[in-house]
Amino acid sequence: MTHVFHRHCHSNLPTAATGDGPYIIDTQGKRYLDGSSGAAVSSLGHNHPAIISAIKKQLQSIPYAHSGFFTSEPAEELAQWLTDKAPGDLNRVYYTSGGSEAVEAALKMARQYFLEQGESQRQYFIARRQSYHGNTLGALAVGGNQWRRQQFDPLLSPVQHIAPCYSYRDQRTDETEAEYGLRIANELEQALLTTGPEKVLAFIAEPVVGATSGAVPAVPGYLKRVREICDQYGILLILDEVMCGMGRTGSLFACEQDDVVPDIITVAKGLGAGYQPIGAVLVREQLYQAFAQGSGFFQHGHTYMAHPTACAAALAVQHTIEQDQLLSRVRKLNKQITGNLNEMFNEHPYVGDIRGRGLLLGIELVADRETKQPLPAGSNIHQLIKQCAMQRGLMCYPMAGTIDGKQGHHILLAPPFILTNTQADELTDKLQLSLQDAFQELD
Ligand code: PLP
Repeated sequence: MTHVFHRHCHSNLPTAATGDGPYIIDTQGKRYLDGSSGAAVSSLGHNHPAIISAIKKQLQSIPYAHSGFFTSEPAEELAQWLTDKAPGDLNRVYYTSGGSEAVEAALKMARQYFLEQGESQRQYFIARRQSYHGNTLGALAVGGNQWRRQQFDPLLSPVQHIAPCYSYRDQRTDETEAEYGLRIANELEQALLTTGPEKVLAFIAEPVVGATSGAVPAVPGYLKRVREICDQYGILLILDEVMCGMGRTGSLFACEQDDVVPDIITVAKGLGAGYQPIGAVLVREQLYQAFAQGSGFFQHGHTYMAHPTACAAALAVQHTIEQDQLLSRVRKLNKQITGNLNEMFNEHPYVGDIRGRGLLLGIELVADRETKQPLPAGSNIHQLIKQCAMQRGLMCYPMAGTIDGKQGHHILLAPPFILTNTQADELTDKLQLSLQDAFQELD
């Protein structure tokens, strides 16, 4: 009997024993190719010597020192590195231990930023229906994923949710991609006018939607229009790059590809690449100055924030990505993997869309390619695909998301950046076989 309270109480999980590059090996010796980096985390695979050695070195100097008493060299160096690379004047870094914590901090930061300026009437966030920002109560409230929210609705503060930018489902045949982006972005203006812009704190969105709908990037121009609206009405723009940031889409920050500088960016998963739990909130200088010249204190904090060993691991991860030129590798692997997927699934009866950026890729599953009718909500095809893939020695991330109130299914692929070309082919071959197995069982 296990005493671990697993999320899926009845699941019988294999026990991970060791790592070998992009593979995890269980206690029975079975190898699993990690096609999703867990949940888009392990961008350097599972036993990178440079990261392990950086962690050991930090443990031998000072493993942990509470951030209320000390700063640390790795925390300072990592913040310097991140702010040097970040777009615009995102000049300050607030550390957390993960993604939900980063989003919570960003939301509270937005509220206190306006309080520092005497704008206590501002209390609302606007977010999008198709989004996931974390499972803690504040992050869950801004998220639009119904499946995750439902049971906790009475505990969540009110948030106005607008349409996602989801061209596969929502772009009309009589409009261009640019017109579509503009139309959907303008929903933000409508929402602001309904609530009263003077009561709104911020708009929060993922530049590439991850967990809820499977690697859906905003169309070009959408985020630029969003930025314009935020500026026009004086609200903050928070971009949640917990999943899509830190190189995952082929640039360090996903929003660089949209040519937009938000007021706040949240990052996590790829920051420490799973070697240590760490997240961060990057903040524009002007916001920071409101705190520094106002109360001088952000009313927030966690015991493990700016954890020296986590910062040392993240610094080593980011240096490795830079030194080994892995961002260009991400872009090359994107071509190979999407090429394979298009060849394999272009005529597949249940594959509606193949999409994404860099190594954050999504496959949307449908019952009918013509009508884009989702598969039946109760089909649980996502669980079946996961099981079949694990049997074939492949980790991928199939999910049941929400498509405008109805359930839909997609598979997220987010392999480590260190994949060889042969391993990239192994990933797509195993995925093809897993889909065959799963749909055979479903029929
Ligand atoms: N934000 C986004 C965009 C995410 O994808 C996730 C996790 O999947 C989170 C926030 C929450 O991060 P964590 O699970 O580290 O709390």
